[in-house]
Amino acid sequence: MNVFMDCPEKAPHFRCVWCEHPSDSLFVRYTSSVVKLQSCGNCGNHVDQYVEYDHLGIFLDILLQKREAYRHVLFNSGYKILWRFLLVVVMADAYANWISWRAKDSEFSEALSVDLLEWEFQKRLLNSALVHLLFLLSSALIGCGRHWLLRKHGSSKVTTSFGFFLNGMIVSLFAVVLKVPAVIWTTSSQLPYSMFWGCWVLQLISSRQVYSILSHTAALEAFLTVACLMGSCLEAVISDVVRSTVVSDLAL
Ligand SMILES: [Zn+2]
Repeated sequence: MNVFMDCPEKAPHFRCVWCEHPSDSLFVRYTSSVVKLQSCGNCGNHVDQYVEYDHLGIFLDILLQKREAYRHVLFNSGYKILWRFLLVVVMADAYANWISWRAKDSEFSEALSVDLLEWEFQKRLLNSALVHLLFLLSSALIGCGRHWLLRKHGSSKVTTSFGFFLNGMIVSLFAVVLKVPAVIWTTSSQLPYSMFWGCWVLQLISSRQVYSILSHTAALEAFLTVACLMGSCLEAVISDVVRSTVVSDLAL
């Protein structure tokens, strides 16, 4: 029997989604029609069963916060750079905040000209870009530093670059995009804020998962780190919203 290893990607360094043990391939091809998932040489499980899943199945498992699904995306999906996705995140966040502001101060916003409304959107776009860049850079910097310390003391043997860490944290921002349907589909004036908080909590949980996986830190330490970083960013957002509201009230 002609048994050979087959890799769906050119990059040879896959990792087991259960134990992160390195693997040269994700499945073994016996014949042109017989393919079997590769088994991990360390834990014995399939290296990555998610190669058989469709995108929806992977996304649902990520929503359920399964670390194996995150590891599939981070280590084995072969993505290169996610700046386009980050651009979508920033645009979605700014749009959701802008729509929310218009819904809250509808009388004031309707009295504004198109130029001023556009200016308000640009302010939120700049604010959203700064907040997310600050969060991504600080989390990647702290996470890489923490991982470097663990490697130095022998607690971790895998390497993680700053760019790889940064891309991973961008993945964790998918919850921000969910703010847009939360705004579009809502009819109550109170509902957007509860859904905004829901998206924020989901972002906190997903960022904690990614940070913990990439830095190899404990769940509690990862949670506290990400919560502090997101709290600092949230404070900037809240102060901006409050400032806008105060300005609106004064103008009225
Ligand atoms: Zn394994």
